[in-house]
Amino acid sequence: MKTGSQGPRLTRRHFVLLAAPLGLVGVSIARAAAAAGSCAAPESESLRESLNYAVVAADAASSCRHCAFFTADSAAPACGSCTILGGPVDATGYCDSFSPPA
Ligand code: SF4
Repeated sequence: MKTGSQGPRLTRRHFVLLAAPLGLVGVSIARAAAAAGSCAAPESESLRESLNYAVVAADAASSCRHCAFFTADSAAPACGSCTILGGPVDATGYCDSFSPPA
């Protein structure tokens, strides 16, 4: 007497072979989003321009991560939030409103 389904059986090996490419696609999408400027905030673009915002500070000691207006984002270490720009900025960034912590 035979029990169970007569249809195709999916083994753990099949699952791994099917899931691995999907995992690679997910990682690629996340990296592409980060590379595309996840620290960007289109609504603050004009303010960024007027304050001469740069993604990478000429002097690392004067970058956003060392600014009093910057709050680090533990979920996205490359980004943080700026009180002046009202949104995300690059930790490596800089603008004319840079202010060292008190
Ligand atoms: S004020 Fe300028 S330097 Fe300071 S965190 Fe904001 S964008 Fe960066």
